[in-house]
Amino acid sequence: MDNQSFRSQFPILNQMVHNKPLVYLDNGATTQKPQCVIDAITNYYTTINSNVHRGVHHLSQLSTDAFESARKTVKEFLGATHSCEIILTKGTTESINLLAYSFGEAFIGEGDEIITTEMEHHANIVPWQLLCERKKAILKVIEVDAKGNLDWTSFEKLLTSKTKLVSVAHISNTLGTINPIERIIESAHKAGAKVHVDGAQSVAHMPINVANSDVDFFSFSAHKMYGPMGIGVLYGKESLLNQMPPYQSGGEMIDQVSFEKTTFNTLPFKFEAGTPDVPGLLGLEAAIKFLQNLGMENIKDAEEDLFNYAVEKLSKIDGLEIFGEADNKASVISFLLQGIHPFDAGTILDQLGVAVRTGNHCAQPIMAKFGITGTIRASMAIYNTKADIDRLAEAIIKTQTMLL
Ligand code: PLP
Repeated sequence: MDNQSFRSQFPILNQMVHNKPLVYLDNGATTQKPQCVIDAITNYYTTINSNVHRGVHHLSQLSTDAFESARKTVKEFLGATHSCEIILTKGTTESINLLAYSFGEAFIGEGDEIITTEMEHHANIVPWQLLCERKKAILKVIEVDAKGNLDWTSFEKLLTSKTKLVSVAHISNTLGTINPIERIIESAHKAGAKVHVDGAQSVAHMPINVANSDVDFFSFSAHKMYGPMGIGVLYGKESLLNQMPPYQSGGEMIDQVSFEKTTFNTLPFKFEAGTPDVPGLLGLEAAIKFLQNLGMENIKDAEEDLFNYAVEKLSKIDGLEIFGEADNKASVISFLLQGIHPFDAGTILDQLGVAVRTGNHCAQPIMAKFGITGTIRASMAIYNTKADIDRLAEAIIKTQTMLL
């Protein structure tokens, strides 16, 4: 993947920023899109645009077929058992809000417990806090050790017969920690709890199989896996989704409506009120096919190689401190430069053509745990090369020379 012809499939990468060739290392926030994804969206609007599920006319049928066939592609990509277990949302944030509302209505009562971790994105904290307030339930938090690993003893202490749900990031967007979700699922299930995995940072970087892992719910956003913004997925086991009430209401999600009584559609439509993002799903399907073509194992290996190179290179820079050195890590490096505010570093790096993210990464609790307010984060994707990492390292050294 480390070659020019591969990179040329991503048109946006071929540009100058502040008169320097762009090095894009903000993939944890969003990834760039290959031409095939852009084409899938454009082709939809130029050939078959029409509303789905409601029309008998030709274009509506083509649009509906393409839409439902793309849902099947998502199902196969995740290793789900049924297409009806793939609920389309706006993204991870909406998937978690849907789950917190609907699972909460069906399964959470006063005194019940939900467990999350200290390393979560706000999207996997706040919906649970609000749910706990509504239901008088209790939110408990697994601790993270100094290296950025989940503290297993802390988890075991929290897990009780009152635990109804464990909701955990597959990969931390800040520390890059890959959490041991299989082990978490096994322990939670033994205690009678369900598990939700926030896959926002994992789905583009490693193979996922929801059936093999036996996870109950899994959420992700298309835009972090080379697909379009504004669409994502909540996977849920059919038996659980069937017991959960609708989240939003309106067209599509109903069966019969009268002023006396409304009955609801079957899965997945029960959870998909209103006109869905059809071109978005076709863009997501194109992104999935693009990834499948490369092979998820190949992607994981290539990114691991690049990550090791980056750690070796950045560790040699004086005054650079890396946050998050978990035993099992993805290609995310959060760091600070001694004596330099992350915002200033990010601004100079940008002037040098290198795009990184600075700030708290929507994960204030883990920042507080490490006693900092933010970091500089370089997060890698399949189009990044060792030359990009060299440019990052050179730009960091130049930043230090300019600011210290
Ligand atoms: N969870 C994690 C771990 C994330 O990194 C993010 C975004 O950065 C989200 C959830 C929220 O994703 P979105 O903004 O696409 O809904």
